Amino acid sequence: MLDVLVIGGGNAALCAALMAREAGARVLVLESAPKEWRGGNSQHTRNLRCMHDAPQDVLVDAYPEEEFWQDLLKVTGGRTNEQLARLVIRASSTCRDWMRKHGVRFQPSLSGTLHVARTNAFFMGGGKALMNAYYRSAENLGVEIRYNATVDSLEMDGDRFVAARIGNERIPARTCVVASGGFESNLAWMREAWGQNEAGEWPADNFLIRGTRYNQGTLLKFLLGAGADPIGDPTQSHCVAIDARAPLYDGGICTRVDCVSLGIMVNRDAVRFYDEGEDFWPKRYAIWGRLVAQQPGQIGYSIIDAKSIGRFMPPVFPGEKAATLPELARKLGLDEAVFMKTVNEFNAACRVGTFDHAVLDDCHTEGVQPPKTHWARPLDTAPFYAYALRPGITFTYLGVKVDETAAVHFGGKASKNLFAAGEIMAGNVLGQGYTAGVGMSIGTAFGRIAGLQAAAAALSSLQG
Ligand SMILES: Cc1cc2nc3c(=O)[nH]c(=O)nc-3n(C[C@H](O)[C@H](O)[C@H](O)COP(=O)(O)OP(=O)(O)OC[C@H]3O[C@@H](n4cnc5c(N)ncnc54)[C@H](O)[C@@H]3O)c2cc1C
Repeated sequence: MLDVLVIGGGNAALCAALMAREAGARVLVLESAPKEWRGGNSQHTRNLRCMHDAPQDVLVDAYPEEEFWQDLLKVTGGRTNEQLARLVIRASSTCRDWMRKHGVRFQPSLSGTLHVARTNAFFMGGGKALMNAYYRSAENLGVEIRYNATVDSLEMDGDRFVAARIGNERIPARTCVVASGGFESNLAWMREAWGQNEAGEWPADNFLIRGTRYNQGTLLKFLLGAGADPIGDPTQSHCVAIDARAPLYDGGICTRVDCVSLGIMVNRDAVRFYDEGEDFWPKRYAIWGRLVAQQPGQIGYSIIDAKSIGRFMPPVFPGEKAATLPELARKLGLDEAVFMKTVNEFNAACRVGTFDHAVLDDCHTEGVQPPKTHWARPLDTAPFYAYALRPGITFTYLGVKVDETAAVHFGGKASKNLFAAGEIMAGNVLGQGYTAGVGMSIGTAFGRIAGLQAAAAALSSLQG
């Protein structure tokens, strides 16, 4: 019989598979996607957030445990499990040597609006290269991998895993790691979770999914139905405002638009709705998808002027461009009079000090709602640019409850042979909000723990 069955084919799954194999277990990975689309959302990533007390290879300066924890506490508004969060934070300081051993390479961050050279280690070649390296290493170590292998359900004996099922096929194993992602790709479930708004709209109908189409949440639903303890809220997710022209799935990072904090954001009614300069973009970019989701028609428009060009990573697709603001409003199909009133009020409210996008500068507004607390400069220099943005779902936070061994809990009790890692349990650490790179920190930490624990449980059951 198999020792460890790993369900999923992304970062968390491969970390688990590699660790289990290194611990001497016989491991099979079941990946829903075909080989060319393997790697789930992890194939789209660029970096992971790492704690460090002094400069380390590609990371400058220091990012101590306490600062990382405070960042997490702030973005989650306290909806996090401190013990599990600190476990992730500490693991992030030591995982890179292990990653390198399996072929992952790092590079210093490029400059841009994400000021992350201190906090985030970038993968050379991005997440695709990272996943290819892990698959290569897994194959070399003798991990068996099956593609086009969507697990429909599990056979459980109470809280004990017995076998996985793919159609009529039954795959028994001593232990199992479920690392099958969130449910973000399941549009029907997203629709149900978000429901209808007061205007009678179904907001999820206008969502775009930034990553894989294979995270359908089949096993998450199954486990919750089988009595696994839930964690997180189904409407909470990592949700970015992305280029409205992005494809429904797998648009990846090239659909990101990073100029929100440099200008203003207006909704379909041509009015502003949130402080665009609240904090640094890496700490705020993931709230904007949700903010746009709450607007009529689930659309927003980021408006900048010529002064901002060159100050942010240029989007792959050019935005609307106009010589005057009224012309821009017409091109966007916005009410010209309301748009001009919004811009004129904003411009008049700007108190420009010393503009510096690299610090929380003193350029702010006075007497306009909502305020813009940093980087507030009048939109007065032609040409003017606009990007239409829609909610882009990265991953959902509803998951299964785990403990520090990654064991899945049923009725408050840890399963002895069923473990979870990655998005399917990320809600234990991320009750809401996000800070760039922490998804891979969670998946890497818990993937490695789950693999080790699953191998230990499988091998000890052999001896027992
Ligand atoms: C565009 C984009 C950019 C991102 N950038 C970053 C970044 O730079 N840094 C960062 O930290 N995070 C980033 N994230 C978030 C990050 O991708 C996730 O936090 C992380 O990849 C989660 O890893 P995972 O292994 O849990 O899930 P995934 O990588 O999504 O893997 C889930 C796997 O499960 C498989 N699967 C699903 N259902 C089944 C089933 N029933 N049977 C078998 N297999 C199944 C899927 O095919 C997939 O292979 C990004 C996400 C996106 C979409």
